[in-house]
Amino acid sequence: MTTASSHSFEPVLARIAEEIERTPGRGRPADYIPALAACDPRRFGMAVAELDGTVYGVGDWREPFSTQSITKVFTLALDLAREGDALWEHVGREPSGNPFNSLVQLEYENGIPRNPFINAGALVVTDRLQTRSSDASGELLAFLRAESGNPALDFDQDVAASESAHGDRNAALAHFMASYGNIDNPVPVLLDQYFRQCSVMASCADLALAIGFLARHGIRADGDRLLSQSQAKQVNAVMLTCGTYDAAGDFAYRVGLPGKSGVGGGIIAVVPGRCTLCVWSPGLDERGNSVAGVAALDRFTTLTGLSVF
Ligand code: GLU
Repeated sequence: MTTASSHSFEPVLARIAEEIERTPGRGRPADYIPALAACDPRRFGMAVAELDGTVYGVGDWREPFSTQSITKVFTLALDLAREGDALWEHVGREPSGNPFNSLVQLEYENGIPRNPFINAGALVVTDRLQTRSSDASGELLAFLRAESGNPALDFDQDVAASESAHGDRNAALAHFMASYGNIDNPVPVLLDQYFRQCSVMASCADLALAIGFLARHGIRADGDRLLSQSQAKQVNAVMLTCGTYDAAGDFAYRVGLPGKSGVGGGIIAVVPGRCTLCVWSPGLDERGNSVAGVAALDRFTTLTGLSVF
């Protein structure tokens, strides 16, 4: 990781952090597991990474946080790289219009989840990656370490155990899809992989760097190709339409970038061909997106004019 001491992104990040500091409402941390409920909603960090790995940040940008659903983008990319379009026979690409952990659509869509970023869809993707790599979460972690240049990235065993202890809904989704033949692995194996995947701890700097391959049209940090240019476009498109829970329309309207949020309060975003971003603040709105995170990305694209539109 290269850290530049002065660059055009630094003033804009400083200005955004000041504005966020003055904003009163920060939402509430997720409370379905104790590790997330204990987070301070006033924490805020933001990082921007350029295509060459130069990274700029402000606030708590080096503080590791619980990545949660942000990891769904990486498992999608890793599985697409391995199996290509066959994946889309098992998971759709349409916004769901339902909460991320909803069961209802699965029944009338024959166990095929609407998209890879709701929990049901992410379970299918992890299942397929598990079949191909036999250690889906290990492959994910190795990828994140390589792309971020941070070998210390790791799972949080307490979070993984807590996810498992509160995992009835995900277990129900997995069993239900298995009943349609849309899950290959034994459900307990899949859930273990999925909960570990959700528990990865990483900072804004780590994630802004790790998602760089989507801004580089599929090229990894070391110059190798992970995805074709077309597949990178497809993943960005699914992020834009499905990446921020039930608020993807509002996020596209305000921010104008492909993005993916997690209930840990992180959001990653991609400016194809230019840079990547990650913002973290644990207070969420009622849809599950970080209040300060969305506001900060909104300000970034407004102040810089960098968006896909
Ligand atoms: N571990 C969470 C779950 O599967 C992920 C939630 C999220 O970040 O959307 O319920």
